[in-house]
Parts: sequence; C-alpha cells; structure tokens
Amino acid sequence: QAKANGRGTWCFYGSEMDKRLHERRNREDELRQAIAEGQFEAYYQPRYLSKDMSINGAEALLRWHHPSRGLLLPEHFIPLAEETGLIVQLGEWVLREACFEAASWADDLVVSVNLSPLQLRVGDLYQMIVSALGDSGLPANRLELEITETALLQENESTLGVLNRLKSLGLRLAMDDFGTGYSSLSNLRKYPFDMIKIDGSFVTGMSHSNESHSIVKALIDLGHGLRMRVTAEGVETLEQLNLLLADGCSELQGFHMSHPLPATELNALLNSTRPRDETKQ
Ligand code: C2E
Ligand code: MG
Ligand code: MG
Ligand code: MG
Repeated sequence: QAKANGRGTWCFYGSEMDKRLHERRNREDELRQAIAEGQFEAYYQPRYLSKDMSINGAEALLRWHHPSRGLLLPEHFIPLAEETGLIVQLGEWVLREACFEAASWADDLVVSVNLSPLQLRVGDLYQMIVSALGDSGLPANRLELEITETALLQENESTLGVLNRLKSLGLRLAMDDFGTGYSSLSNLRKYPFDMIKIDGSFVTGMSHSNESHSIVKALIDLGHGLRMRVTAEGVETLEQLNLLLADGCSELQGFHMSHPLPATELNALLNSTRPRDETKQ
C-alpha cells in the first residue's frame, strides 16, 4: 500500500518536472530560433531636455514579434535570455541595430542601449562595441550604455577596467533604474558614470506621496552635485513633468512625452519636431 502511494507520488512529481523542463527547453529553442530568424525589433523612446523640451536622444528597447503570441515586451523574454546566456547574442544584435539606426539621425542625437549584467562578464564587450561603432560609422560620443546597479553588484575584478576602457573611447555611461539597487552611492564615485536615470517607480509616486517626491529631489541633487546629468524615467503625467521641471531635473523620458516607437515612427517624430535644415547649423 505505502509503496504504491510513494510510487504514485513519485511518478506524478517526475512527470511534472519533465513537463517543466520540456517547456523550458522549448522556450529556449524558440528564443534561439527567434534570434537566428530576426524576429526582434528595436523600438526607440525619445528623451527630452528640460531646458526646451527638445529631443536629445532615444533609448533602444527590445520587442519580439513572436510568431504566435504577438508583440512581446522584454519582461516576457529578457529573464530567459539572461538565464540561458542568449542575452549575449541578443545584446550584440540590439547594440549593432541601434548604432546603425542612430548613424542616420541628426548628429547631435544620442542612442542609449541597455546592457545586461552578463554582457559585462562574458565575451569581449569592448571589441564588440568597437566593431559596432566602426561598422555603423556612429561616433562613440553618440552612444550611451545603460547599466543597472545590479550589474555592478555581480562585478568581477575587470568590470571597472572594462567600463574605464569604454569611457576612454568617448562613449557615455548611464546608471539605470537608480535608487532600486543596493550599492548606489559608492558605485557613483567608483565608476565613470555620466548620468543617472531615476527609476520610474519614484516618479510614479511623486505626485501623491511626499516621501517619493523627497527621494526624487534628493536623487536629482545628488546626481547634479556629482556633476552628472539626471534623467527621470516613467514621466506619465503633466503634474509629474511640472514637478520634475521645478526640481531642476535635466532630462526626461516617459509616456507623457512619447511611448517607445518603431524606428520609422521615431524618424517621423524627429522630422516633424526638428526640420532637417534646423538641425544642421
Ligand atoms: P529600462 O531600461 O529601465 O527601460 C524603461 C522601461 O520603462 C521601458 O520598458 C519603457 O517602455 C518603460 N517606460 C517608459 N516610459 C514609461 C512611462 O511613462 N510609464 C511606464 N509605466 N513605463 C515607461 P520596456 O521596454 O518594457 O523594457 C523593460 C526593461 O527591459 C528595460 O527597463 C530594460 O531593463 C530591459 N530591456 C529592454 N530592452 C533591452 C535590451 O535591449 N537589452 C537588455 N539587456 N535589457 C533590455
Ligand atoms: Mg534603460
Ligand atoms: Mg530604467
Ligand atoms: Mg528597468
């Protein structure tokens, strides 16, 4: 009797495990195939300068045109890509794509690309970036890399060296999702960041919570005090925008100004807000 129960339980458990492993392997194969077949697209979300609300750059954000599930946001595939290491290939794809795209923009516009922690640790990130810049013709000072604090927590000895070498090429470094990690303050001095991006969760709270507003103000002052630029992410309302302008935040990004857009739509927006003859002076 006991043996039969035990056996029954084991069989059930075993098949559940098999099923999960099987699903995971399928999803991994799907992702691998999607990279090979070019099912990804980079969208671009404009970033605005507070002083005149002009666009001074855009952030590349990955989208997956899944053959049966439709357009997928990063939350549905970046975690698996990171677990499987496929983010290294996917990250190279998006970086090259963004460099080639930005090379066609007006020459004062910067493209920001997100780097995954793994990309800092495996492969030759420096050489990959040098090639992307060289092949696309994008000057290094028009590329910005966004790195989260979490990525720096998992650092090995060479992370600082890699970031310093990248900086010496002339590109820019931004600390992404600032305020949500653990080691922000020491990292701000240790690493050569040009900009901090205040996480959208603080911005969301600022119009109804004094505490969130205080945090945002403190982060803006901290960044500017360290002679860095500060971007507020996730600006969704006019009220938030006005508070951020009053607090002196230098740059802004969010749905209130623009959602992430396909490259052609971004180009249309750039052409309508910055006529060609005005951008080259
Ligand atoms: P992130 O780098 O912090 O990007 C900002 C996210 O906030 C984007 O989500 C953007 O669409 C969203 N967002 C912008 N404005 C607003 C707003 O006003 N309200 C709200 N609620 N959200 C706003 P998305 O595109 O879903 O990307 C999510 C995250 O996925 C990114 O966060 C980034 O960490 C990661 N990711 C996206 N593309 C890449 C990539 O190419 N490589 C890597 N490694 N990670 C990426
Ligand atoms: Mg980012
Ligand atoms: Mg962010
Ligand atoms: Mg984020």
